[in-house]
Amino acid sequence: MEDDDRLRQAGLRVTAARLAIMQTVREGDHLDVDAVHRGVRERVGHVSLQAVYDSLHALHRGGLLRRIEPAGSPARYETRVGDNHHHLVCRQCGRVTDVDCAVGHAPCLDPVSDAGYLVDEADVIYWGMCPDCRSDETR
Ligand SMILES: [Zn+2]
Ligand SMILES: [Zn+2]
Repeated sequence: MEDDDRLRQAGLRVTAARLAIMQTVREGDHLDVDAVHRGVRERVGHVSLQAVYDSLHALHRGGLLRRIEPAGSPARYETRVGDNHHHLVCRQCGRVTDVDCAVGHAPCLDPVSDAGYLVDEADVIYWGMCPDCRSDETR
């Protein structure tokens, strides 16, 4: 499916800026708002940071983008939605890497007790040091 169809299906207006955001996020790697903003400006010219924020919010709510928020780092966006994958995050440089969900469907972790909640998602962040930072460390 093309992005404009995805937008329509989510009930969102199709704009050049939104399409540019989808493209930028897809080609990037868990980009934060500033990086998305830069990519959008390269594609369609001037778009305000606020407009990028608003569109990211709408696209996230519409289920077209996933947003992850590692503690201490700005929110990151990706187009890989709906597969309940998880993330490795480097404590040192903040790099984010996808890890497939071991079970393949949500929620892939069962809490010891659900306390009566209907659980539909588990969002796991594995914290550690990425290969680059590890090799710096041993140098
Ligand atoms: Zn690192
Ligand atoms: Zn991811």
